Amino acid sequence: MAQRNPSLSALGEFGFIDRVKKQAKSTLTSAVIKGIGDDTAVCRYSTQEHLLLTTDMHVEGVHFQKGMGGEKIGWKALACNISDIAAMGGVPKYALISIGMPSSAHTDFIHNLYKGIQKAARCFNVAIVGGDTVRDSKIVVNVALTGLVAKKHLVLRDGARKGDQIFVTGSLGNSLKRGKHLNFMPRVEEAHYLVKKYKPTAMIDISDGLIADLYHILEESGVGARIEENNIRKAPGATLEQAFYDGEDFELLFTVKKRDAQRLLKTSQPFSFIHIGEITDKKKTCVCVMKNGQEKKLQRRGYTHF
Ligand SMILES: [Mg+2]
Repeated sequence: MAQRNPSLSALGEFGFIDRVKKQAKSTLTSAVIKGIGDDTAVCRYSTQEHLLLTTDMHVEGVHFQKGMGGEKIGWKALACNISDIAAMGGVPKYALISIGMPSSAHTDFIHNLYKGIQKAARCFNVAIVGGDTVRDSKIVVNVALTGLVAKKHLVLRDGARKGDQIFVTGSLGNSLKRGKHLNFMPRVEEAHYLVKKYKPTAMIDISDGLIADLYHILEESGVGARIEENNIRKAPGATLEQAFYDGEDFELLFTVKKRDAQRLLKTSQPFSFIHIGEITDKKKTCVCVMKNGQEKKLQRRGYTHF
């Protein structure tokens, strides 16, 4: 029997999100196309476009240490939201930046933090239009970002079907050690190229880890996956385990129909798209064909907050 008042660690991050999702359901209107459960929310906007909304919070001691440098942390705080907009096939537009900090915080650090946010905003044509500042016991940065997506280019997590082919946009694993998690380029250009030329059936950005994020697609689409060890491109210094389960690579993971995949693989591409496997009808099951030819079931795990 489910506990009535479980601790957050007993409930887990995704258990908690499920609860919130149920509570939020009664507030949804017909203007909401997608609420909780994708990279961003999707709402009706105009005859041609949908509005995208997303937010991400970064807390000192959990997501960053001050020693990492304010500018890099600022870049990351906005860039990971931009990455979520990209995963929907959208264009980032307007940001609200809220910061909590202790009165003892050094103004240099805060100045550099904003500098990093500004750098990412300029790079991706995002306008910073507001926010809030509060006193807190440690530094907390929250970024809320809106975006727009052409209706015909919107990609959700729930469209993957048996036979679709699975791709990623880069090498994976070891992101934290390599510092990639602080200076990655959100794959906005790649996403726009894909939605225009190949119309992915499902897409997500890899923040929790390849396997954890692949499971998000499998769950939403009601399908399974078979990936090949031989096709996984490990980042420098990364083991296969790290390529599977490390988070914060911020590459795109997407599926396309078989005929589009053949076209994608045959044509020379301006970006790197790595074919890693295919969608199966074994619901919510991900297996990996290992180098020795044997199939191994991959457990769903990755970084969770609680
Ligand atoms: Mg995401």
